[in-house]
Amino acid sequence: MKLTYLGTAAAEGWPAVFCNCENCKEAARLGGRNIRTRSQALVNDDLLLDLPPDTYLHKLANGLDLTKVRYLFVTHWHMDHFYPQELTIRGSYYSHGMVSPELDVYCAEGTKGLFDKIGWEANRDTLDAIHFHILSAFTPVQAGPYTVTPLPANHMHELDGGGNTPHPYIYLIEEGGKKLLYGHDTGYFYPEVWDFLGKAGHIDLVSMDGTCGRRKVGLRGGHMGLPDNLEVKARLIEMGVCNEKTVFVINHFSHNDGICYDHLVPVAEKDGLIVSYDGMRINT
Ligand SMILES: [Zn+2]
Ligand SMILES: [Zn+2]
Ligand SMILES: [Zn+2]
Repeated sequence: MKLTYLGTAAAEGWPAVFCNCENCKEAARLGGRNIRTRSQALVNDDLLLDLPPDTYLHKLANGLDLTKVRYLFVTHWHMDHFYPQELTIRGSYYSHGMVSPELDVYCAEGTKGLFDKIGWEANRDTLDAIHFHILSAFTPVQAGPYTVTPLPANHMHELDGGGNTPHPYIYLIEEGGKKLLYGHDTGYFYPEVWDFLGKAGHIDLVSMDGTCGRRKVGLRGGHMGLPDNLEVKARLIEMGVCNEKTVFVINHFSHNDGICYDHLVPVAEKDGLIVSYDGMRINT
């Protein structure tokens, strides 16, 4: 399985859209891998994880053919993970020579609800080619060659104005005998998620939430910092589902509490963690 990190920041990007803090100035000064756009990842060429407002930028920056994407898994409807308006210009007279005219979208009901609010902007051909599948926690779905199990994320269960919670998911993705856990956005895992992971078999790549820098967040914060990442890593190894061959990545960074890429790498490397950057590719 090939995993490409297209965007690696939290909601506001880094440097943030409207910010002049020291961390944003430092990232701008350093440039390169210190510049982070909103989180999105691509598995092989056809399974997309999240649809942030920076999707178009990711296509340009990585020379992607997004018409190859057949499956879209959305973690939750926070704006850095789901910008549904983008789907209204997919297909019909906006798109030609598409490799995959059909798109299967897998998400929570509330996420689809956000698309439904703006779906009237799309024409009939576009809507007919998009097939939503509402996920249930712990129930795997088969998306072509991928077996994907949604696990409940520990992340911001507040209600929106319409009374919906984000029902966030993290995903265990299996294909070609390899497994990867895409864990964004989430705080320290719920007990039932640990129970599931304990029986999941060997995991080849674990992508953990690194939003909170050096701060320990624990069960309450909805994200993780380095101390949480190390606890998760140690527990997965202790349970026997990860070992020295497992690749551990930290990803989804914020200028708040954050340490720029150049400064974070030496810290994380000592603990066997890879720090993501926009455009990073990993083969498992
Ligand atoms: Zn996020
Ligand atoms: Zn800032
Ligand atoms: Zn979120």
